[in-house]
Amino acid sequence: MAPKKLTRKQIKDLSKKLSYAPRLVWDEITAAEKKRVFSFADGYKTFLDEAKTEREAVSIIRDMAEKSGFLLDRGTGSPSPLMRIFHEKAVALVKPGKEPLEEGVRIIVSHIDAPRLDLKQRPLYEDVDLAFLKTHYYGGIKKFQWLSRPLAIHGRIVKKDGSTLDLSIGEEESDPVFTVLDLLPHLARKVQYEKKLGEAIAGEKLNLIVGSLPLGDKETKERFKLAVLHLLNESYGLTEEDLLSAELEVVPAGTARDVGWDRSLVGAYGQDDRICAYTSLRAMFDTRDVSKTAVALFVDKEEIGSDGATGAKSRFLESVIGDVLEMLGQRPSAIGVSRILARSRALSADVNGALDPDYQEVHEKQNAARMGYGVCMTKFTGSGGKYNANDADAEYVGWLRRLFNRKKVIWQTGELGRIDEGGGGTVAKFLAPYGMDIVDCGPAILSMHSPFEIAHKGDLYMTYKGFRAFFESL
Ligand code: MN
Ligand code: MN
Repeated sequence: MAPKKLTRKQIKDLSKKLSYAPRLVWDEITAAEKKRVFSFADGYKTFLDEAKTEREAVSIIRDMAEKSGFLLDRGTGSPSPLMRIFHEKAVALVKPGKEPLEEGVRIIVSHIDAPRLDLKQRPLYEDVDLAFLKTHYYGGIKKFQWLSRPLAIHGRIVKKDGSTLDLSIGEEESDPVFTVLDLLPHLARKVQYEKKLGEAIAGEKLNLIVGSLPLGDKETKERFKLAVLHLLNESYGLTEEDLLSAELEVVPAGTARDVGWDRSLVGAYGQDDRICAYTSLRAMFDTRDVSKTAVALFVDKEEIGSDGATGAKSRFLESVIGDVLEMLGQRPSAIGVSRILARSRALSADVNGALDPDYQEVHEKQNAARMGYGVCMTKFTGSGGKYNANDADAEYVGWLRRLFNRKKVIWQTGELGRIDEGGGGTVAKFLAPYGMDIVDCGPAILSMHSPFEIAHKGDLYMTYKGFRAFFESL
């Protein structure tokens, strides 16, 4: 059969009808929605400032959830918003739906830990008449990014008598800050420049300078270290041994900022993955008429493999579902809980790496997520031939696609980098063994894992909108 001759207009219409192209948020939204995009980002920046560690994130999530009617203690019989906190580092919020729990639940899981420097258990020492704290980095950092910048110390110390002390130094204008020194370029030729970038800065050189005033005179042993101990004792009643039972985290000092003349971007530490924590939290609060029970899960330890009692490999999701069953006046059983989870649908809410304008060669452009093209669905992560990937199935991706399109969520798909370029993973593969449907979903960001990550306000808002559509889905 000879091809029918088409007019120029018909060809144009055909192209529009048959081809797919991701859509830019700014091209698609109304002026009113654009306003909401910008005001949403203001609340997000405040959240980032108050949640610079996983413990602080739990604390602010608890405060916000309590104001939204989520209670830690619920009697049985009446389905009401429920909150569960684990070791003060992981949280679950549950909004009971109209449908029976046996139909499955809707879960959004994000992580609230972020790459940083942790203090060692015996951190304090002095050298060349200066006092320092030793650190051990947490998660995937580029070590050189942590040098020569103002740093703050946040965390908890459990004292000799068992009492706890929460610290945050370096965030207030009147606070001192700390820093990791870097070598002057004049002398860096051999010890830094001639080495590979990844090897130029040794982990054991990431020491925090904390003082230069001595205590006592020349005869005093370790008088610079002693001076710091004296200060810690005067200010907080601490001794050196108290640091053995402490979790002190070193993070970039300072607040989240608008980036760009047009203020269309957010620059801040810890947006991987607190951007998904905040958007899923707000989606949970704003969701009305829940059909399937909604669960927002905020986990710790993702950046070091999701191990530990508060990571995604922990079983606390099962105990949360058990608690919900009890609240509904039912007797939880292991098989009952596992059936509910097997019938559930979940979003592994995490960021993807956006197409980097200066390093486009590490991406495969057609499949890389782009800044400004909305929330990104990542069907698979992994590396070396999808190894270690969850790889969501077509049916689930299709269901989510229809949902987002129906709810006017601007969304795109994304792949983390070119094949065999590197790769990474999320918590998706740790929840998938329950048998639930799960796929990665979140905004793409730039400068990921750096002390100043960049997010797009349009993507931030579309992530919220997508998460809300998910919680409200039938
Ligand atoms: Mn992440
Ligand atoms: Mn990460």
